[in-house]
Amino acid sequence: MKLTLRYYGDSVLREVASPVEDFDEGLRELAEAMMEIMVTENGIGLAAPQVGVGKRLIVARRMRGLDDFDAPPMALVNPEIVGVSKETWTYEEGCLSLPGISAPIVRPQSVEVRYQDLDGQIHTVSDSSLFGRILLHEIDHLDGRLCIDYISSAQKSLIKSQLKNIKQQRT
Ligand SMILES: [Zn+2]
Repeated sequence: MKLTLRYYGDSVLREVASPVEDFDEGLRELAEAMMEIMVTENGIGLAAPQVGVGKRLIVARRMRGLDDFDAPPMALVNPEIVGVSKETWTYEEGCLSLPGISAPIVRPQSVEVRYQDLDGQIHTVSDSSLFGRILLHEIDHLDGRLCIDYISSAQKSLIKSQLKNIKQQRT
């Protein structure tokens, strides 16, 4: 399966992805191809719209912190946020679709996510570490949201020229 990364400025990143209905070989191949891209690009999470596929599928490394980089990747199909904590934390986030850009993003400290595995079985995962943040970031992609949507206009003006460059060079 030949997939390529999509960058800021590509309209697919702003679309709401559709639920996965067929838990077939094609879904498995898509998940494997996404994991391969994530590993090659040294990413810690990737959502299907980032490779141009409008389906509710994400892959993520189940890592508690950045020194956990070898954590095995997992695939989450139709992930849904079922609960978040009121407490928040701020962390410098990057995104494979926003090369060279990172920004401090405020997100809930803990999150509970319901998802299906590649066979369609339903699971629930709760996390209050980096993995939970990755899930929130990737699920946002399925709804057409990017992490930079959360930053202030003052912060955004600091990265304005970088965003413009990505748009011009990558799309
Ligand atoms: Zn991202």
